[in-house]
Amino acid sequence: MQIGVITLFPEMFNALTCGGITARAVQNGLLRLSYWNPRDFADNKHRHVDDRPYGGGPGMVMQVYPLRTAIQTAKQTLGENTRVLYLSPQGRRLDQTGVAYLSQFPHLLLVAGRYEGIDERVIEHDIDEEWSIGDYVLSGGELAAMVLIDALTRWLPGALGHADSASEDSFYAGLLDCPHYTRPEVIDAQSVPAVLLNGNHADIARWRHKQALGRTWLKRPDLLINLNLQPEQQALLNE
Ligand code: SAM
Repeated sequence: MQIGVITLFPEMFNALTCGGITARAVQNGLLRLSYWNPRDFADNKHRHVDDRPYGGGPGMVMQVYPLRTAIQTAKQTLGENTRVLYLSPQGRRLDQTGVAYLSQFPHLLLVAGRYEGIDERVIEHDIDEEWSIGDYVLSGGELAAMVLIDALTRWLPGALGHADSASEDSFYAGLLDCPHYTRPEVIDAQSVPAVLLNGNHADIARWRHKQALGRTWLKRPDLLINLNLQPEQQALLNE
């Protein structure tokens, strides 16, 4: 997957290659990241990319020309079929379904805004979709873009180790993940559930599924409303 980012702060994205799944995906060539800085396309000698809003009011707005030129330049590299996304608090709220949908595009271009946001004419003319990472306002789109890139990486075939799988993650099948334990078996009088130690894979799978159902019911009952529980799942939940 190839993801380009339009950002005034490309250095922020070093966090993705510090370590972990995203760094490994980049090293293995599963994920290609590239950056374009609107400042490099500014049409003034001070490299300003923002100006005061028409109609007055606080803050500055990112101008059309540097953004549009950066987007067009990026598309020449990534391909004209690149899907262009603007990270914005006004966009569709990101969830696992949204990540799965976006993972189908081989080329994405993420536009990170700053200041009061970007000139509306860029959204009208150059952006395919707006996506939000939650109902709160960040100072810039970079962290939101990194959240999206990280979540997308988990969907890339081969990006997770063979023991892990996105299909075991919370939300994949509409449920939260089951609890996890590791060595030691007992610590401060807290024991690992006995079923996880008996080596019976069917028992363990059943216990994990029951835990996933139970904790979804306790922590996120809203998820169960949209889920068509099978009779055997209903029975597990009622046990
Ligand atoms: N004035 C804008 C509004 O209220 O809709 C907010 C601008 S915000 C201070 C600056 C930039 O941060 C936005 O252009 C956007 O790229 C990014 N941003 C802020 N909150 C976000 C969110 N919840 N999800 C995605 N991006 C966000």
